[in-house]
Amino acid sequence: MSINDSLAGEAMARSLAEVDPEIHGAVHQETEKQATKLVLIASENYASEAVLSTCSSVMSNKYAEGYPGRRYYGGCEFVDEAETLAIERAKELFGAEHANVQPHSGTQANMGVYFSAIEPGDTILGMELPHGGHLSHGHKLNFSGHLYNVVSYGVNRDTELLDYDEMATKAEQHQPKLIVVGASAYPRTIDFARVQAIADGIGAKVMADIAHPAGLVAAGLFPNPCEHVDYVTSTTHKTLRGPRGGLVLCKEEHAKVVDRKVFPGAQGGPFMHLIAAKAVCFQEALSAGFRSYAAQVLANAKELARALAERGHRIVSGGTDSHIVLVDVGTAGLTGKDGEAWLNDAGIVANKNTIPFDPNPPLITSGLRLGTAAVATRGMKEPQMDQIANWIHMVLDSGGDKQLCAAIRAEVDEVCKSFPIYDWRLN
Ligand SMILES: *Cc1c(COP(=O)(O)O)cnc(C)c1O
Repeated sequence: MSINDSLAGEAMARSLAEVDPEIHGAVHQETEKQATKLVLIASENYASEAVLSTCSSVMSNKYAEGYPGRRYYGGCEFVDEAETLAIERAKELFGAEHANVQPHSGTQANMGVYFSAIEPGDTILGMELPHGGHLSHGHKLNFSGHLYNVVSYGVNRDTELLDYDEMATKAEQHQPKLIVVGASAYPRTIDFARVQAIADGIGAKVMADIAHPAGLVAAGLFPNPCEHVDYVTSTTHKTLRGPRGGLVLCKEEHAKVVDRKVFPGAQGGPFMHLIAAKAVCFQEALSAGFRSYAAQVLANAKELARALAERGHRIVSGGTDSHIVLVDVGTAGLTGKDGEAWLNDAGIVANKNTIPFDPNPPLITSGLRLGTAAVATRGMKEPQMDQIANWIHMVLDSGGDKQLCAAIRAEVDEVCKSFPIYDWRLN
């Protein structure tokens, strides 16, 4: 071994703290924040140690353009094994005919399906963003809004439930090639069979985006669109509790095209460390333990909604069938923006969100979106949800009183200590 080689070896083994104290510090602080604050961001969760360590494994170093058994790179035998496991487990978990586990994100998964199912200039019918839809469902600032002609449907003003009649009318009127269902801030179940029936009436295809409820779907606690529609997309990092990433599930007849549109159509080399971590996540999600976890996520959301309503807060759609609770703070004369900031002072992390027919713009909003996936991972149950609802109520009711928020911050800290997560990483 030459001197240079040995120096390289030594340099490679230096710790992050030594190599880059600034980034080490940021990671440390993020770890501490995740450990000591209450994460009620509906799209976040805590991935397991097995998932996290796979994310930071040497699989990150490997190029593997192509698919298992047909790669454009040599030396792919072990990443092939990982991707094949991820594909097989994803199919089993969702009862899907085909799975593509390469999309880097939920948005990339949607891109893969759009490229497969429609042509630029075609019409898509998606849910309006202020009613709970996602950027990648046709927002003008997203590629989907640039490439396609976008028509939207929303929820009924009175019930705040998905308006299938409006969807059917708009479908008749605009003859979209693709109907997109699934949302980021819609707390209720979706009747995928009904959406497919609407699509059948006009010869369109359906893409169901289950980025949010995927973990509940996997556990059999939320309707599974794989039984009804041609294309299903998801993220793997929300209720599914895996690494950041995306996933496409589809009927066998679309498998070849979907694979070709994800790679090379929309992406280059797959992130093999994250694909391996997706395999770990799917394995975890196939366990009985995950089913009871998902049941607790649901029970917690129902309790949180009930406890907030009991204290006078208006819950959009009157409740929840998922991990999401959307609170209308506008009726109390508040904004989501203020609510988000005040709660953060109290150690409770949530986000402002538009509510259906919101009079306020997206950076102000009249809503707070709460989710119970992360706190359920910590082991929190109904009594803690009641406690959290009380804190949220006191913070909002006091108009973000600084002293009160500081006092609650201390209480949150104590409760978080009783439900530890990642604390060992801080040592
Ligand atoms: C979160 C989300 C996505 C995409 O997620 P990214 O991984 O951030 O691209 C797509 N669709 C819906 C409905 C979502 O909520």
